[in-house]
Amino acid sequence: MTGRRTNRRDFLKTAAAGASAAMLPLPAIAQGTGGRVVVVGGGFAGTTCARFLKRIDPRINVTLVEASPTFTACPFSNLIIAGLRELAAQQFGYDKVAADHVTLDMAPATAVNAQGRSVTLSNGSQLAYDRLVLAPGVDLRWDGLPGYTEAAAERMPHAWKAGEQTLLLRRQLEAMEDGGTVVIVAPANPFRCPPGPYERASLIAWYLKTKKPKSKLLILDAKDAFSKQGLFQAAWKELYPNLEWVSLSKGGKVNSVDVGAMTLVTDFGRHKADVANVIPPQKAGRIAELAGAADRTGWCPIDPATFESKLQPNIHVIGDASIAGAMPKSAFAANAQAKVCAAAVAKLLAGGKPDEPRLINTCYSIVAPDYGISVANVYGPADGQIKDLGGGVSEANAPSTTRAAEAIFANGWFKTITAEVFG
Ligand SMILES: Cc1cc2nc3c(=O)[nH]c(=O)nc-3n(C[C@H](O)[C@H](O)[C@H](O)COP(=O)(O)OP(=O)(O)OC[C@H]3O[C@@H](n4cnc5c(N)ncnc54)[C@H](O)[C@@H]3O)c2cc1C
Repeated sequence: MTGRRTNRRDFLKTAAAGASAAMLPLPAIAQGTGGRVVVVGGGFAGTTCARFLKRIDPRINVTLVEASPTFTACPFSNLIIAGLRELAAQQFGYDKVAADHVTLDMAPATAVNAQGRSVTLSNGSQLAYDRLVLAPGVDLRWDGLPGYTEAAAERMPHAWKAGEQTLLLRRQLEAMEDGGTVVIVAPANPFRCPPGPYERASLIAWYLKTKKPKSKLLILDAKDAFSKQGLFQAAWKELYPNLEWVSLSKGGKVNSVDVGAMTLVTDFGRHKADVANVIPPQKAGRIAELAGAADRTGWCPIDPATFESKLQPNIHVIGDASIAGAMPKSAFAANAQAKVCAAAVAKLLAGGKPDEPRLINTCYSIVAPDYGISVANVYGPADGQIKDLGGGVSEANAPSTTRAAEAIFANGWFKTITAEVFG
């Protein structure tokens, strides 16, 4: 015999190493497959992630779970309220996603077994996964504003999930007499689309100015500051003298609503509305909570490089549902996060180390049909968070040609992102 005799200590070492290797799951690639990824939520984040996973590694078995066969996009839905756009322009199907060899399961996900790594759907199917990506967007907190229930939203629409609610708010504005008062209730941070309430206010003010000039618009706000504030306020001063913004410190925070009396109640008084648009507090879509990925805030803490949940291993959370540090809850951010997450998941399945990402967000707001403004920033992980690495807003006091050009860029942005995600 030429080989060294194995002594007891060597044997135990080898046996222990073998045992721990056997207990560790092998990377999917070592098993000769790409692995199984289930993505829940076919909006901006989830659909992007599913398609990019397939593009990065076609061997990955990707299933996209979505509750509705038609997606209705929120960006640009404020134009519908002002009568400048139709709902059909916001709606997209999933044919092209299926053509990319993503398996579609069109039913709501109702439960997640994080230990057993499976997702249950309302149709009874059980989907096993190696990695799960949750992208359910937001749910409205029906317990977040006393008096504001799902039934109340039929009288005082939120229109914060595009669709029937958007059309309801438009019909109410159309039915209002000239000389009426419209009230928008804006929530405290964090919420979906930080500039959204102010874009909406601008476009409703444009509608009133052009169709019902004796009417007034009041924004009751639970904040003292908001996104692109200087630009919005300069535009309002120039274009919309009948628009008033009431900040938190001036008594703008609405504490309850009285739907029967069409009244918004603050510490400083009661505001009667002819049309009330109440945007209530929000939280991550319910499935995130059911998966154990949401914390006490209602949102989902994540690793800033991989978007893996800080609460549940092998589950990633992207888009509005995640706590993405300095990144706003926007469709652009959701799309950027989805690409980073897809790359990280593919690397992790292959047993590799994800790269440190850079993310971008640009948010356009339409203040009038020929008046656009924007904010653009770059983000990256630092100190366990996603930090803002630089950027800024549109130039102040820019000429009208610049504002008109930004309105055109905004249109281009919507076409590009929806073509990338659903086309
Ligand atoms: C009025 C308004 C204007 C906006 N304007 C802009 C803008 O100009 N630019 C911009 O970048 N962003 C804008 N946004 C924000 C943007 O709409 C969101 O940030 C974006 O939709 C977030 O993407 P998401 O994928 O996280 O969620 P969503 O796009 O909402 O997608 C979530 C999907 O998950 C599905 N889902 C949820 N739960 C389940 C479940 N249990 N099972 C199966 N499916 C499920 C839902 O049906 C939905 O399709 C605006 C928002 C509003 C309200």
